[in-house]
Amino acid sequence: MSIIKTTAELEAWLGSMNRRDKTLGFVPTMGYLHEGHLSLIREAKAQNDLVAVSVFVNPTQFAPEEDYESYPRDIDRDYKLACEAGADIVFYPEVDEIYIPSSSTAVEVTGDITKKLCGASRPAHFKGVTTVVNVLFNIVRPDRAYFGQKDAQQALIIKKMVRDLHIPVEVVVCPIVREADGLALSSRNVYLTPHERSQAICLSGSLQKAEDYLSSEADDCRSAARLIKIIGEHIQCQSLASIDYINILDGETLEDIEHIESGRKALAAVAVKFGKTRLIDNRILSI
Ligand code: AMP
Repeated sequence: MSIIKTTAELEAWLGSMNRRDKTLGFVPTMGYLHEGHLSLIREAKAQNDLVAVSVFVNPTQFAPEEDYESYPRDIDRDYKLACEAGADIVFYPEVDEIYIPSSSTAVEVTGDITKKLCGASRPAHFKGVTTVVNVLFNIVRPDRAYFGQKDAQQALIIKKMVRDLHIPVEVVVCPIVREADGLALSSRNVYLTPHERSQAICLSGSLQKAEDYLSSEADDCRSAARLIKIIGEHIQCQSLASIDYINILDGETLEDIEHIESGRKALAAVAVKFGKTRLIDNRILSI
């Protein structure tokens, strides 16, 4: 097995696999793999006969001032790690292979689900994500596709796109993998200085504070505004933290909610910059 770079090679591999009686799991990534990505690959391997992993730093989901050029890349290491975790192929296409030069089509999910949270700070981001995921689904034609709860909004949007467009793929969302101290794994963590890294644990810490408060007996413990304040106060204790957003929204639709209600999932989500590095984290709150 080797790294597959073209859709023609991928097509040939799919043909040679006699897919009629085999299921194919697919894990799309931007590479620089870590244990979070590998957990998706292992889950895909456990649930399918074959696993395809893509490594593609998608230019259309980056704004011009963002880190597309400097995004960490190491395909040889990614290839080795993906294979060890159970990948049968690693698809590593050039940009022209995904976006044919005359391409002028995009796929966009509209509404609250793409406008809130990261959609507010990164207006073109999710259109780039849904477009590339569509192209990849059409090329790879998986039975199941694996996404991380780490990017909770992305996972909700992909699920909605799959439902809305009747795409014949089962979307599986896997839990967030964290460092021992609680920091959610991310390819962008390598950008953090040691000082920033030590302060970045306030993201998971703040979400834990909200969870603790929610399970307390306080009168206003279910108030979304109160929980947002608790999260904010915890993060603001860190001198290097610059808050992009803190919000608590309906866990399926991302509509605003005033209170955490029993039987309804709420998503507490944060985005915080440390220096130039923007980190996100989230937690499902339920009572
Ligand atoms: P990325 O390479 O950042 O585009 O991520 C590829 C996939 O890995 C996405 O579905 C992410 O949600 C998922 N992922 C990234 N970090 C984690 C993590 N810490 N735990 C679980 N999944 C993750």
